[in-house]
Amino acid sequence: MTPRAVVIVGAGLAGARAAETLRTEGYDGRLVLIGDEPVAPYERPALSKEFLLGTRDERSLLLRKDSYWDDRGIELLLGTRVEKVDPVDRIARTYRGVDVPFDELVLATGARPRRLPLDLPAGVHELRTLADAHALRDELVPGSHLVVIGGGFVGAEVASTARTLGVHVTIVEAANAPVARVLGEEVGLMLAARWRKHGVDVRLRTGVAHIRSSADSRVSSILLTNGVELRADAVLVGVGVTPAQELLPKRPALHVHPAGDVVGPGHWTAAAFDGAAAARAILGLPAALPQPPYVWSDQFGLRLQVVGMPQPDDALEIDGEGDSFAIRYLDETGSVRAALLANRPAEAGALRRHLAESALAFAA
Ligand SMILES: Cc1cc2nc3c(=O)[nH]c(=O)nc-3n(C[C@H](O)[C@H](O)[C@H](O)COP(=O)(O)OP(=O)(O)OC[C@H]3O[C@@H](n4cnc5c(N)ncnc54)[C@H](O)[C@@H]3O)c2cc1C
Repeated sequence: MTPRAVVIVGAGLAGARAAETLRTEGYDGRLVLIGDEPVAPYERPALSKEFLLGTRDERSLLLRKDSYWDDRGIELLLGTRVEKVDPVDRIARTYRGVDVPFDELVLATGARPRRLPLDLPAGVHELRTLADAHALRDELVPGSHLVVIGGGFVGAEVASTARTLGVHVTIVEAANAPVARVLGEEVGLMLAARWRKHGVDVRLRTGVAHIRSSADSRVSSILLTNGVELRADAVLVGVGVTPAQELLPKRPALHVHPAGDVVGPGHWTAAAFDGAAAARAILGLPAALPQPPYVWSDQFGLRLQVVGMPQPDDALEIDGEGDSFAIRYLDETGSVRAALLANRPAEAGALRRHLAESALAFAA
């Protein structure tokens, strides 16, 4: 049965894609998209890249023109936090105590940066929202010292942007190599070597013991667990994210459709897919074919693309170096299971298609 009211909580990518898909697939009932940020849905990936660099402004980040939502009868409630979802009475309650009834609900609340269990003085930042990016951008003054805690993709992108802006950058990573959990240690160390070549001081196998502040209560240095003290005019904490699951019902609920980072791997393409998939499920349309995992990252002159899911015991096949290389992860039969591709968009596209077709053939 076609629902009379669909409410989407979370006006990020997955929420936006759900709303767009509902309308393009012909849903003409009430459609409410509720987000707690004061901005219409925007491109989060650009925050650590072009926006921080200053080559793109706030307006250019918007996923859709201002008039898009109104033109399609999508009620966009911004700056509105939903505090409670009742999946039985089918009500979403906003922080103002307003109850928004729904027949179907898409829960697309995304994820939040993981916090450090330390006292954090001024000058210590996280990066998830446009507001975070504004605050961090103000700190990236040429000649200043930025410490990035955590060697993940977002931290590496900020480090790359900051180096371009003439900032001294140190990355602190507790593991033996950055991004080792995703790509393995050997490949993580190759990336660290690239970062060092671009002037980043990379400190591995050490944690943060203490963040010191000066008399004006601003961060002044970072004391590492190995006893080293690093000058820090600003700090970015990039130690991963926690899915924002506080509204997720304890058990799967018939009329609640989670989508995006709230339940997904934390990648743009998966969130876009999920949002559209939730809309299709609500309308009773056949599910789209699942796609292989895919994530990209722009850093230090490389467009990195990770296709598929590398496994810890995979053999590596390395082809190329410098500004263009492919690292292929081979399964026990010698087939390519996944790859990290640097500045090789055509190969990334071909591998995505190949893995999608193989999955389909396997399922048939
Ligand atoms: C700096 C940065 C760079 C990135 N770069 C890349 C990249 O290069 N490649 C890539 O594949 N991925 C990248 N990502 C990841 C990608 O942006 C995310 O996977 C994607 O944005 C997830 O979309 P989402 O809609 O699930 O969640 P989000 O984009 O997090 O949106 C969720 C929204 O819901 C809101 N919300 C949460 N709780 C409530 C509530 N109770 N009430 C109302 N609203 C609520 C949040 O404030 C947020 O606006 C990057 C992420 C960041 C932060």
